[in-house]
Amino acid sequence: MRNVVIIGSGPAGYTAAIYAARANLNPLLIEGLQIGGQLSITTDVENFPGFPEGIMGPALMDAMKKQAGRFGTDFLPGFVAKADLSQRPFHLYTDDEEIQAKSVIICSGASARLIGLESEKRLIGYGVSTCATCDGYFFRGKEIIVIGGGDSAMEEATFLTKFANKVTVIHRRDKLRASKIMQDKAFRNPKIDFVWDTVVEDIYDVEAKNVQGVKLRNLKNDEVTDFKSDGVFVAIGHEPNTGIFQGQIEMDANGYILTHDGTKTNIPGVFAAGDVQDHVYRQAISAAGSGCMAAMDAERFLEHSEH
Ligand code: NAP
Repeated sequence: MRNVVIIGSGPAGYTAAIYAARANLNPLLIEGLQIGGQLSITTDVENFPGFPEGIMGPALMDAMKKQAGRFGTDFLPGFVAKADLSQRPFHLYTDDEEIQAKSVIICSGASARLIGLESEKRLIGYGVSTCATCDGYFFRGKEIIVIGGGDSAMEEATFLTKFANKVTVIHRRDKLRASKIMQDKAFRNPKIDFVWDTVVEDIYDVEAKNVQGVKLRNLKNDEVTDFKSDGVFVAIGHEPNTGIFQGQIEMDANGYILTHDGTKTNIPGVFAAGDVQDHVYRQAISAAGSGCMAAMDAERFLEHSEH
């Protein structure tokens, strides 16, 4: 029986572990499929305070893990395949273990949707990005494309014009899904161009390990063209990793866990932190902050439930 089980190993999970471990709760952290979370697939991180020269995403996550381990966090590789949160103690199941927990902190994050190309996967962190706030700065004076037609794509395209000389939005239809106000802002921006009814079929150059251009297909006339680009921002939405909690925890229409009074969910003893409950800020530092809050909330919950 564990006092606290933390699900997920991004900034929220590791920070929750640091705080819970330092409160002598000897937390167990279940690492999930992508150890280190979304930052483990980025390169330079320049906006995490404390690193004036920047730090590589995997190095930052490694340091967080070591810090959590130093105070007595136990790490369990693997992912939670099933959860029963209907009664206390809560039951979590990985492929080969059943874990009982007095409290649970869900930090399972969100995954950026990708278009699904092999070249996209290989060039993530090398010119392909899913986060303009994180990586826009590296594209000063460059020409880049943004894929998508929703609010995220408009927001990213507009933000990226602070750095890039030209941003081309590639959208698969001839109408945007984005809200009117976001569309108007993007249409008014002289640095943003649109290519309609078009999908990206390949990204060059995997061998060179940087982005040099993309192969486009016009869905109306099937015409295939090469398009020069220094970077590709994929902005086709995110999906919170909450499938196993469906029907057990209150979520919004998009599957993000609803929290109140800090990091509490509708289930006493179950807390949520980081991108799994935040589709607005989605930053490593805001996730870390909410991980800290969740550990303190769990500590208080355990204190009260034991007296
Ligand atoms: P979204 O609204 O689901 O839009 C995703 C866009 O990506 C759509 O235009 C979609 O095309 C396109 N897309 C999806 N899969 C694709 C694929 N495989 N290949 C090419 N294109 C693909 O996602 P979002 O923009 O991330 O927004 C999510 C939610 O957050 C929305 O409710 C949004 O309003 C909100 N949000 C708000 C703000 C803001 O207000 N500041 C900012 C960001 C997000 P189709 O249009 O053809 O389906």
